[in-house]
Amino acid sequence: RRVLFRSSSPIGGIRIIIGGSGISMNDADIPFIPTEDSHEDDDSFESFKKRSSKKSNNFEVMTKFTTRFKDVGGYETVKEELMQCVDILKNHTKYSRFNVRVPRGLILEGPPGNGKTLLAKAFAGEAKVGFIPVSGSQFQEKYVGVGSTRVRELFHLATQNAPCIIFIDEIDAIGRKRSTDGESSTMERDSTLNELLVQLDGFQNMTGVFIMGATNRVDLLDPALTRPGRIDKKIFIGLPDKTTREKVLDIHSKGKPYDKISVKMTDIVDITEGFSCAQIENLMNEAMLHSLRVQREEFNMTDVEMVMNKIMVGWQP
Ligand code: ADP
Ligand code: MG
Repeated sequence: RRVLFRSSSPIGGIRIIIGGSGISMNDADIPFIPTEDSHEDDDSFESFKKRSSKKSNNFEVMTKFTTRFKDVGGYETVKEELMQCVDILKNHTKYSRFNVRVPRGLILEGPPGNGKTLLAKAFAGEAKVGFIPVSGSQFQEKYVGVGSTRVRELFHLATQNAPCIIFIDEIDAIGRKRSTDGESSTMERDSTLNELLVQLDGFQNMTGVFIMGATNRVDLLDPALTRPGRIDKKIFIGLPDKTTREKVLDIHSKGKPYDKISVKMTDIVDITEGFSCAQIENLMNEAMLHSLRVQREEFNMTDVEMVMNKIMVGWQP
């Protein structure tokens, strides 16, 4: 039997659960009871449960995505890794024979513009499971204490729709190292992170929720968040290598007519060494725009070099 105590502390409530098979934070077992001093009246956690289960007040399970892995150039090994994660989510019976722990999450890290967000979008399109995209700012409100409620709401929605992937873009906004100075502004963020950590540990017996984060500041993340068992994998998405650049160029030069004599794609692959994927995309786009400006319907190497210089040293008016 479970005995439930609640106190009426100003922020949220305290739940002590005695009995059962030890302490469990499993929200499916224990109904979440909103406290009287809940800030959101008709916006409460209870009211969303009654409504469509694909949606809560602040989050929504998305199912339709048009981006696919073929829209992301390169990173084949990353795609494989991601697909295995979905496979584990869907067929965990197959894996349980081998006594493996189901991974709970992964973080994509690396410099901006190399396709972290794009990979997540494509993953959502390929995985064919529920996908909840969230951003760090969705856990912030003018009220204190909203963050941890939102985290609970998010995980509740995810478990209802399992198998489900939660994608937190720019996860450093909530996953930042907890502070020691006790300022109220950082305390709010800390309590959000604490709730996230608890939820990540809590769904042990709830296979089917997978959390994915993306950031370019992995050094700012709290070590408790990135420890194995919570976020198991860190995948570095660095600047593209030669083969990746080739594929990215392929994707972004599609549909843009160019002068086949002067423009050699292999040359562009070489000169874009050190560019991010987003810069390569920008290069192709600007080159096409530059030639259209002078009423040419095919871009040539002069356009490319012109734009290249602009990207590297800035535009001179
Ligand atoms: P970030 O890693 O900062 O999240 P994004 O995923 O938002 O970067 O990428 C920005 C843009 O760069 C994308 O919209 C896309 O046009 C282009 N891009 C980045 N990586 C790739 C890639 N691997 N293949 C094709 N286009 C890419
Ligand atoms: Mg991004």
